[in-house]
Amino acid sequence: MTAAAPLYACIEAGGTKFVAGLVAEPADVRATARFPTTSPDATIAAVLGWFADAVARHGAVRAAGIASFGPLSLDRSAPDWGHITATPKPGWSNTDLAGPVAAALRVPVGFDTDVNGAALAEVRWGAGAGQRIAVYLTIGTGIGGGAVVGGTPLYGLGHPEMGHMRIARHIDDRDFAGVCPFHGDCLEGLASGPAINARWGASLSDLPADHPGHAIIAHYIAQLIVNLQGVMAPGRIMLGGGVMATPGLLDRVRIAATALGGGYFAGDPAQVIVAPGLGERAGLLGALALAMDAAAAASGSG
Ligand code: ZN
Repeated sequence: MTAAAPLYACIEAGGTKFVAGLVAEPADVRATARFPTTSPDATIAAVLGWFADAVARHGAVRAAGIASFGPLSLDRSAPDWGHITATPKPGWSNTDLAGPVAAALRVPVGFDTDVNGAALAEVRWGAGAGQRIAVYLTIGTGIGGGAVVGGTPLYGLGHPEMGHMRIARHIDDRDFAGVCPFHGDCLEGLASGPAINARWGASLSDLPADHPGHAIIAHYIAQLIVNLQGVMAPGRIMLGGGVMATPGLLDRVRIAATALGGGYFAGDPAQVIVAPGLGERAGLLGALALAMDAAAAASGSG
């Protein structure tokens, strides 16, 4: 760690808070700050004001990275690249995030979903290290997934929307309509935190250990896992988010996924289906990985 280590401006853009950081590497975070997510103008102005002060104190940055809630436009050739697109979050549809950051800091900007960023950080520094294909999932207020293939976050027409996968009903969960405004009983509609609360009036971790909700939610998450195994054969599937903090749930998911997989998919479930290695840091370090890749691409080495 030298004084000459390049610094990166990292932004974890969440639906309830933005986290900004001036970071040299994962073990060398120079400064961080949190800002409540209010209106786009106020939130972005607060973050950029903080960076102006942080850069004055700590030095200029080489690149910026933004790991954001979505949906996002990720196609660099599209006129709306760098924008949050049609989000249900009031006031945030069609918000340009990358543009104001690039204009204020005058550096290359990396931009991706929070879960793609987290997947990239986990592959580089965490539980996904050494894997050619790895998936990061968050099971919480919403359900989202990001994937890294050969070191690159996956996107196509849009980015993956793994939370909206269609799944089969648990035999003891036939009547609940689901909470997804688009699909009703997609995975997020059945297994997200709000879906759990809507059915049983409590979070999964507050339900008794013998409540049937534990097996039902594990069954749904296990379907997501075996579907991902069938589509892309990830070496690691990392499960984060508030619902996954429920004691015993990770083990239940492994057991249910093993049963659903029927012994067909490669890999030891205890090695493939894991908790994230970076914990709460995956968001900001995702932005760091995106910033580093943007710097490498701009210098022609990426
Ligand atoms: Zn849905």
